[in-house]
Amino acid sequence: FDSGGSVEATKSTSEVRIVLRNAGSIDPRNLEEYIALDGYQGLAKALRMTPEEVIEELKKSNLRGRGGAGFPTGLKWEFTQKVRSDEKFVICNADEGEPGTFKDRLIMEGDPHSVIEGMVIAGYAVGASKGYIYIRGEYFESVSSLRDAISKAYEYGLLGQSVLGTEFSFDLSVRLGAGAYVCGEETALIESIEGKSGRPRLKPPYPPVSGLYGKPTVVNNVETFACVPPIIDKGAGWFRSIGTQSSPGTKVFSLCGDLVKRGIVEVPMGTSVRDLVHKFGGGIPKGRTLKMVQTGGAAGTFIKPEEMDAELDFDSFKKSGASLGSGVILAIDETHCAVDIAKNLMEFFAHESCGKCSPCREGTRVIVYILDEFSKGRGTVEMFNQLYDISETMEESSFCGLGQSVPIPLRSILDRFKDEFLSHLNSPGCPVGVCEFDKPE
Ligand code: NAD
Repeated sequence: FDSGGSVEATKSTSEVRIVLRNAGSIDPRNLEEYIALDGYQGLAKALRMTPEEVIEELKKSNLRGRGGAGFPTGLKWEFTQKVRSDEKFVICNADEGEPGTFKDRLIMEGDPHSVIEGMVIAGYAVGASKGYIYIRGEYFESVSSLRDAISKAYEYGLLGQSVLGTEFSFDLSVRLGAGAYVCGEETALIESIEGKSGRPRLKPPYPPVSGLYGKPTVVNNVETFACVPPIIDKGAGWFRSIGTQSSPGTKVFSLCGDLVKRGIVEVPMGTSVRDLVHKFGGGIPKGRTLKMVQTGGAAGTFIKPEEMDAELDFDSFKKSGASLGSGVILAIDETHCAVDIAKNLMEFFAHESCGKCSPCREGTRVIVYILDEFSKGRGTVEMFNQLYDISETMEESSFCGLGQSVPIPLRSILDRFKDEFLSHLNSPGCPVGVCEFDKPE
């Protein structure tokens, strides 16, 4: 990747690195190596602009939140900037908990200053003087990498009083989560930083208006912050020349499951699932056949191999049913059973439901019960239909995104593998022999 701008505009099948521009090629503990590759140039330029100009550039770039929801970052910053308040905050959501997602970890371990730089620019743009990186406690190496980078940034005058000799000051520290998936939900995360139990708040008000300690707060994902410095440095036009019109830039994907090459790739938005599975993931190992791919993470959709031409960006769910989410490609080969896959996933949601609202707390448990009955050959057609009814209730009445998103993967696997679910009603049961089939003859 040539930082001079020779990036192919759209749908390249080669890796294009913006977020991972330095990962693997610099020593993340050596700040001077980051600076030598234009590090902190975006911040220096931002400090020569007005906060409004920084936000305008970001809005022009149409950078959208990489945590999964794709909300326009410039708009979020503008909301925060416009609220009058004696204090504002910037939070980096590094509580990467989506099963199969490990992209933020690589960014934080490979290039921590790209995240810090993005956060300082955010602080300047919205008028905040304090930031927190909320990171899952199990990410020991990422925590160490960030703490080291923060202390060096203070040493070099990039954090603290008078950033780069200007009147702007910004303090940054790390807060550790304790492994609760729901703390990745931004308001539960804020509660956790405040020292309370990590349970979501009612939205609105959204954090840009009322966030940490009730003050205006920008919450963005690790990958989103890492996109900001090159956008300010090279301009919105450069960023928009990569990816798709509605979702410019690149996306960092976590490739996992039954793939020859599992790992992280960064590609332009709009790259197809087929390319991610075959070109970057190396296809399916052991000569086996692909059965389905879950795109987007635990809350993402299952698609069949014939749907793999779907191109992933923030609008792909509407266009093709394949979701981008946090950028997971989970390949599942023919040796797995759809009932077992669904049960495993729903057990995860039942375990991680915080219990605050009954649609999510009870809904996930009933779904697991039904799927367990199917896996033992004790399901019925009525139970199969009940899964759709529960999905509807959860979608409409769950308190937060966790419960509201459970129906997305569930319905997608029920729709596409209905025959396989129903074959569990009769002998010989599980077509791939995964489920313990103990229905009496
Ligand atoms: P959301 O659509 O409610 O909000 C997205 C962001 O936009 C939030 O920061 C929110 O504050 C902001 N926003 C939305 N409307 C706003 C408004 N009117 N004014 C100001 N700000 C506004 O989605 P969410 O529940 O925050 O996140 C859902 C996504 O999280 C899913 O797409 C899923 O893929 C993803 N997710 C990611 C992980 C991970 O580990 N990365 C884990 C679980 C879920």
